[in-house]
Amino acid sequence: MLDEFTHVPRVAYFSMEIALRNEIHTYAGGLGILAGDTVRSAVDLKLPMVAVSLVSRAGYFHQQIDNQGRQVEQAAFWEIQHWAHALDAKIAVPIDGRTVWVGAWLYVIEGHMGGRQPVLLLDTDLDENQPGDREITHYLYGGDETYRLKQEIVLGIGGVRLLQALGFTVRHYHMNEGHSALLGLELLRRYAYPAEDVRQGESPYDVPRVRDLCSFTTHTPIEAGHDRFPYDLVRRVLDNGFDIETIKRLAGEDSLNMTRLALNLSEYVNGVAKKHAEVSNAMFPGYLVHAITNGVHPFTWATEGFRQLYDHYLPGWCHEPQLLMRADCCIPETAIWEAHVQAKQHLIEKVQALTGVSLQPDIPILGFARRMTAYKRPDLLFSDLERLQEIARSHPFQIVLAGKAHPRDEHGKQLIEQLHAHARTLSGTVPVVYLPDYDMALAQLLTSGVDVWLNTPLPPLEASGTSGMKAAFNGVPNLSVLDGWWIEGCIEGVTGWAIGNLAGMPNDNARLLYDKLEQVLLPLYFNEDRSGWIKVMKGAISKNASYFNSHRMMLRYATEAYSR
Ligand SMILES: *Cc1c(COP(=O)(O)O)cnc(C)c1O
Repeated sequence: MLDEFTHVPRVAYFSMEIALRNEIHTYAGGLGILAGDTVRSAVDLKLPMVAVSLVSRAGYFHQQIDNQGRQVEQAAFWEIQHWAHALDAKIAVPIDGRTVWVGAWLYVIEGHMGGRQPVLLLDTDLDENQPGDREITHYLYGGDETYRLKQEIVLGIGGVRLLQALGFTVRHYHMNEGHSALLGLELLRRYAYPAEDVRQGESPYDVPRVRDLCSFTTHTPIEAGHDRFPYDLVRRVLDNGFDIETIKRLAGEDSLNMTRLALNLSEYVNGVAKKHAEVSNAMFPGYLVHAITNGVHPFTWATEGFRQLYDHYLPGWCHEPQLLMRADCCIPETAIWEAHVQAKQHLIEKVQALTGVSLQPDIPILGFARRMTAYKRPDLLFSDLERLQEIARSHPFQIVLAGKAHPRDEHGKQLIEQLHAHARTLSGTVPVVYLPDYDMALAQLLTSGVDVWLNTPLPPLEASGTSGMKAAFNGVPNLSVLDGWWIEGCIEGVTGWAIGNLAGMPNDNARLLYDKLEQVLLPLYFNEDRSGWIKVMKGAISKNASYFNSHRMMLRYATEAYSR
């Protein structure tokens, strides 16, 4: 079954989560979407890869919202055998003093242009394992730190062993975030000098060789995004024949810091936007963090109407999204507007079905959907409800929101409740709907169906952000704080609009957001001559979608990270 993939050397791409399709619950949010888009671009570009992730049988979670506006979480089991094939191979990893067997499922990504790439989903739910160990690969980002460490042993160490057992030749390892950094320890062990060649007091480990094989992408400046495990836990759970002193030299004296381990074992390290690389270089003095700005997968994120439009006017765009730079001159305004009206109609129907609320097709919709957490400031738009209502009285608008909060992010969950309270307060002047259970399918509907994509993170905490890029593929302009990718993507009034400037104070952001909405966006939208608005839609496609796509991103990984 694997012969088709094992005969050529591949880049092994390790990620704790990966968004393969909506029915497969192996992702939580942006990191997983990026992993999926990465491999989808490798498929289209015929760049040999093998992705390694966890099977996450119970998914992340399904979100419901109760009538108080509170998030209710439910396990999100999925039909593995329907989508993936069980592979015969199993390997053993020592965890907690026991032998834990790890098997895998094969999912094949098939591109619409003929490419195919394998994804291995690691699974410990095997008869050989005792009940607790069978659940190690069940809950994505679930459990406590012991559970997380076990998952990361399965991913990093189990993943490397399984690739070998299945007959893959790996020419390079890419760690998508630090969760998989234990793979570096496994490679050190594999390529260690034989004991008889090692002089007394010298290390048997060939660190330069392993570094040459590995690349690492760091994804966030937020401290909680960097896993650290206390060494007493590590001693107990991670019993892989390594002495703790060796691990401490590579992963930090105080605790096992997965980011530090990945930094020390990767020759190529990068952040996910130019600004994020700068911030990361300041966070990790002594390391060189390059910048490869994220992108999204063209075919996946352009909605049907826009795909048809691009196919007709810019054939080949799926393979070479640079062609979209001609969208401003080569696609008629009416065709852009019609494709947008169609996408907006699909969203309006979905909103009606999910909430019973009828949004108006001729009134602009502002969209905000992403993980609900403090630094993303989903409440910024609602900081002054009086002002918001006053703006709506001269130029009406509607708001669509969505997003899950991590089950242990209490503040994130409070934000969801507050947003519901604001929606009640505004009812009558500004329709506000909150769509539950934000996922890949809703993201496709939202980023294509709204008129403006709003983003209000607290700088510099949004490493890149990718949902705004999805919007650009559908001609939806961004209105965003200058952070992450938008610092590179924003040309004021041409591709969208900035909230504030680079030197400004984040405290001013709410006022500047209202000013821009009132004085610039809404008057332009309601102008009798719609061509001014459509020009910005075209700017988003021609200047943003043509660049912020995962094909460009992958070509850079291939030339700068993978081929050393
Ligand atoms: C794209 C996407 C994200 C990431 O959105 P950001 O704007 O980068 O935070 C999160 N969740 C889902 C379901 C997505 O499709």
